[in-house]
Amino acid sequence: MNHLQELDKIAREHSNSRSVVNGFNASADYVRDQLLAGAAGYCDVSIQEFKVPVWKELEIPEFSSVLNLPGSTPQERVEYQHMNDFRVFQDGGPSTTLRKQRIRFVPNHGCKLKDHSQIAGKVAIIEARGEDGLQCDYWIAARNAEKAGASGVIFYNTAKQVALIYTRMRVIPWKEGDPLISIPVLSVSYSIGTNLVQHESTLLIDIRTRNSQTVETTRNVLCTTKDGNDQDTIVVGSHLDSVPDGPGMVDNGSGSSVNLEMALLMAKYRFSLKSRIVFAWWGAEEIGLLGSRHYVRQLVAEGKKQEVVHNGTTAPESLIQPSVKIQDLFLQYFSVYRHDYELTDMFSGSDFIPFLLEGIPAGGLLTGADEQKSVEQRKRFGGFAGAPLDPCYHQSCDNIDNVSKEAIQTMSQAALYVVTKLAKAKNLRGWLYDESWSFRIL
Ligand SMILES: [Zn+2]
Repeated sequence: MNHLQELDKIAREHSNSRSVVNGFNASADYVRDQLLAGAAGYCDVSIQEFKVPVWKELEIPEFSSVLNLPGSTPQERVEYQHMNDFRVFQDGGPSTTLRKQRIRFVPNHGCKLKDHSQIAGKVAIIEARGEDGLQCDYWIAARNAEKAGASGVIFYNTAKQVALIYTRMRVIPWKEGDPLISIPVLSVSYSIGTNLVQHESTLLIDIRTRNSQTVETTRNVLCTTKDGNDQDTIVVGSHLDSVPDGPGMVDNGSGSSVNLEMALLMAKYRFSLKSRIVFAWWGAEEIGLLGSRHYVRQLVAEGKKQEVVHNGTTAPESLIQPSVKIQDLFLQYFSVYRHDYELTDMFSGSDFIPFLLEGIPAGGLLTGADEQKSVEQRKRFGGFAGAPLDPCYHQSCDNIDNVSKEAIQTMSQAALYVVTKLAKAKNLRGWLYDESWSFRIL
């Protein structure tokens, strides 16, 4: 809890945030200084810098249309309502003012450059991906429009999609040198989209966005143990950044504090290691897992691969066995201490993804985000049914009062149990990939 209090203080000194451009650097300095003071003889502290794109909406965007029939006076302007009728994609371009723009429907979801003919100087209107999701990425369609000279892009929902699309307008594994979109990208409702398409030849539109789009330097903090076999390295990672809108105490000040305390404790008692441990505090998780991606990219570039600890159940097929073995260790802890738990999938979520994508097994713990608690879950874990698991998820109220002391105690002990077991294993890789071990559905 001491580390959490320090991180909470940092957030309060940085307009209630620990995001990349706000309190993250102070958070990283805090973790580094703690490690240098309390673990320097046990692990080597290093800083890994990398670039990230940071996008922020500065003002509420405006979007309107006017019917412009030849020979008649222009009809009344229709102002669309932000968040109900339209919104701007995340990373959806720099500040732009477009006036009296013509629009043009782009067929086939805009997946091929040739779909964008005669779009130059106009705003491309593109139907969003269908339910089958088989069409291309929004990034590919928008980049095609940009390359063909479009002045903006509007994706409209299919008839079945109710919520406005809100996703990142850039390649997700973004790295230094990758492009960002230079024209505004909006998402609109089905009714507005189809209306625009129907009146393509007679409507003119205005778009005004005020965003900042910059590329910043941020970092991962690492502490690599001096002892232990580096062929069987275990990465114990947690993300240290928060969202711009909140202090990020549960997400993920809690995990980062546990990780830090674990490193300091193991250093204090000079816990002996068979495998090397890299304690890692990732930057830029909240803007696309960019810190852990950078770390894994460096590993691959150096020709090194490592075993990892983070989350556990539904890894890619070849990694099911070693990932379930890591999961089994967590379950051992929970059954010995009679704590209830649930399993969660590993299809998306957090920093374990870049590792799984590179063929490195992973396991780990989390305590829930904005999913609703069911009646069944309430019976087992307490709390309120029908409320989010974390009512302050990604919000300004994710402060220190949002952290459950009981939960952090259970989770930190489970983490310490698993990390020390793995680090002591005589032949970690052999154990993880032991073929005589039979897969069981847990
Ligand atoms: Zn988060």
